[in-house]
Amino acid sequence: MAKSTGREPAAKKPDDAAKPPVVREPAVPPAPAMRGAAKSVQGAALDGRPWHESHLAMVRRARRINRELAEVYPYAHPELDFENPFQLLVATVLSAQTTDLRVNQTTPALFAAYPTPEDLAAAPPEELEELIRPTGFFRAKARSLLGLSAALRDRFGGEVPGKLDDLVSLPGVGRKTAFVVLGNAFGVPGITVDTHFGRLVRRWKWTEETDPEKVEAAVAAIFPKKDWTMLSHRVIFHGRRICHSRKPACGACPIAPLCPSYGEGETDPEKARKLLKYEKGGFPGQRLKPPPDYPGLAAPEAGPR
Ligand code: SF4
Repeated sequence: MAKSTGREPAAKKPDDAAKPPVVREPAVPPAPAMRGAAKSVQGAALDGRPWHESHLAMVRRARRINRELAEVYPYAHPELDFENPFQLLVATVLSAQTTDLRVNQTTPALFAAYPTPEDLAAAPPEELEELIRPTGFFRAKARSLLGLSAALRDRFGGEVPGKLDDLVSLPGVGRKTAFVVLGNAFGVPGITVDTHFGRLVRRWKWTEETDPEKVEAAVAAIFPKKDWTMLSHRVIFHGRRICHSRKPACGACPIAPLCPSYGEGETDPEKARKLLKYEKGGFPGQRLKPPPDYPGLAAPEAGPR
């Protein structure tokens, strides 16, 4: 227990109860409350020395990484083009096992042909399969889209519901898809554990879990709820642009001093810079219609198939 300094605040007076509460970042929860989180962290530091840290230090480092990423990617955003919750739901279902770019190049024709759940539910399966074929696994995805559109029409009055339980009750909609829709179409905080998010948080030793739901729970315990959606965008942005699966560009990584996995990828700055993608490497982003503050280029309408 910390020693008393003799300068602790005086006990709360009855009058204080009327004052508005001071909002602070939540305190770091004790380790036992952090389901799935690593209890202590080991790795390698930038200078090659072994990386040991307490659970509390890991939480502080995680929050610092989030702050640094917010500076690197102030324009982080969902990389699927959408204009309403239904379009985002459909685009997210289509994004399984393919790039957001490929989805964005596919959905304009799809939404022009079938703009509402009622329209899509009535689509001839073969026509729908042909339209979404570029996204891969098109037969299974067509079945999901037909099923979820029919469910939206029959059970939710043609509207996308704004609750997790309702969303995951739709065919082909899991927690990841539901959180993407909740976070970006309804403003409900959510953590999106996709392949990038899982890989990066394990490299950063925020958790050792591999099961997406356990990763989600571990990360949820580290950050205040209000940060969840933007944290997800920033981590996914970093995974797509710098901390790649096979060749992370460690030598060009702005958070290298905070990373216990530094050295897993290319450490030579010159070579690492050549590995950067999207706006970092001077290439177009994923969206055909990126937000106004996006510093890179819009994606081309039709990519190589
Ligand atoms: S690129 Fe390298 S240094 Fe940066 S976060 Fe990934 S593993 Fe860590």
